[in-house]
Amino acid sequence: MAHPIRSVAVFCGSRTGHDPAHHAAAAALGRGLARAGLTLVYGGGSIGLMGAVADAALAEGGRVHGVIPDFLTRIERPHGGFSRLEITDSMHARKARMFALADAFVVLSGGLGTLDETLEILTSRQLGLHAKPILLLDAGGWAKPLARLIESVIGMGFAAPEHRRLFALVPDVPSVLALLGVLETEAAATEARL
Ligand code: AMP
Repeated sequence: MAHPIRSVAVFCGSRTGHDPAHHAAAAALGRGLARAGLTLVYGGGSIGLMGAVADAALAEGGRVHGVIPDFLTRIERPHGGFSRLEITDSMHARKARMFALADAFVVLSGGLGTLDETLEILTSRQLGLHAKPILLLDAGGWAKPLARLIESVIGMGFAAPEHRRLFALVPDVPSVLALLGVLETEAAATEARL
C-alpha cells in the first residue's frame, strides 16, 4: 500500500571529497530531513559526508537511525548521538536493514561504497522488488556522470528506456526535500524477497 514518506536512507561517502559543495549539501540535507520530521537512516559512521548528514540532522533534533557492521565500527567510528544504532554482523545485513527501514533513498556524493549501494537499490527496483523513490542529488556535479552511464547503457540496448524512470536526478537539496514531501512510497510485499 502506498503511503507518504516517513524515513529516508541516505547513501553518501565516508570521505568529504575536494569540493566543499558536497559537505554543504550533506549538512543541508541532514537539517532539512530533521525539519521535515523525516527519520534519517544511514550507515552509522561519524566520518566524511556520512558524519556531516547525521551531525546536521541531530543538531536540528531529528531522528537518526544508524546501521553499521561490527567490523566497520573501528574504521567508520559510530556516531555518538543517535536515536538508534544497530550493529550488524555483515555488510549484506547492513544493506538489508537500511533497505527495510527506508521509505525512500537519497544518494549524495560518495565513492565506491556509495556507488555499490546505489546500483543495488536501482537494480532491485528494476526487478520490481520495491517501488521506493530513488533521488540522485547532483551536488557538485557528482550524479551527472552516473546518470550519463545509465543513459549510455540504455542507448546501447542493455537496459530498457523505461529504466530512466527508476530514479530522479535532482539538482539541489530544496528540490530533494520538496519531492520527499509529495512522493509516495510502496513497501511492496516483495521486500521480503530481497
Ligand atoms: P564510500 O562511498 O566508498 O566512502 O562508502 C560509503 C559507505 O558505503 C561506507 O559506509 C562504506 O562502508 C559503505 N560500503 C563500502 N563498500 C560497500 C559494499 N560493498 N557494500 C555496501 N556498502 C559498502
